[in-house]
Amino acid sequence: MNRSEFLKLAFGASAGIVAFRSFGFSPSQAEGPFKLAPLPFDAGALEPHIDKMTMEIHHGKHHKAYVDNLNKAVAGTDMAKMDIEALVKSVNAGTPAAVRNNAGGHWNHTFFWNILGPSGGAPKGALADAINKKFGSFDNFKTEWGKAATARFGSGWVWLIKNGNDIEITSTPNQDNPLMALAEKKGTPVLGLDVWEHAYYLKYQNRRPEYVTAFWNVVDWNKVGKNFG
Ligand code: MN
Repeated sequence: MNRSEFLKLAFGASAGIVAFRSFGFSPSQAEGPFKLAPLPFDAGALEPHIDKMTMEIHHGKHHKAYVDNLNKAVAGTDMAKMDIEALVKSVNAGTPAAVRNNAGGHWNHTFFWNILGPSGGAPKGALADAINKKFGSFDNFKTEWGKAATARFGSGWVWLIKNGNDIEITSTPNQDNPLMALAEKKGTPVLGLDVWEHAYYLKYQNRRPEYVTAFWNVVDWNKVGKNFG
């Protein structure tokens, strides 16, 4: 039995097709300036809220594909000399789609892995104060976050962004993010959530709200607090 046949048995035919497509990428890393860093925690560390297989595919296949395709998209251009944050900030309406999508995909996933951890809990210190001031309570903040996550049609991200002392919840389509020059609402990301189906489909199928609720168990608020500064 090969892996896709096993996945079909384990998860049903439709998940098997998703997994088969996910495993279709080349295993070797393409040449280029951008690199895929290892996950900052074990792939199984977020169980049961985010399962190990989802993390392995999400990081090792999806994120890797963004890195590989970004390296191909910038090859031979001045963009190959930019760091990823400067490249993402430069994205405007004239940027080639392959750069916009894959630079965003690389930055967004790197950011996402670095706000996750098995800790959960609640915001602390200055970030807790800012959330309480803006949203009234952490519970209200989570409610507003959930609304933004379910309102994002199709694939995209939900963000908590900072502008000076102000914070707000926003969302972006596809692999756009609030740093991009073309973003409708700009700001510095403090917290982010990937709401693409590839982030939750194996465990939650179409139940995005359950995934969004489970997310609160795997936010590392120490790291998010540092993003708030
Ligand atoms: Mn993703």
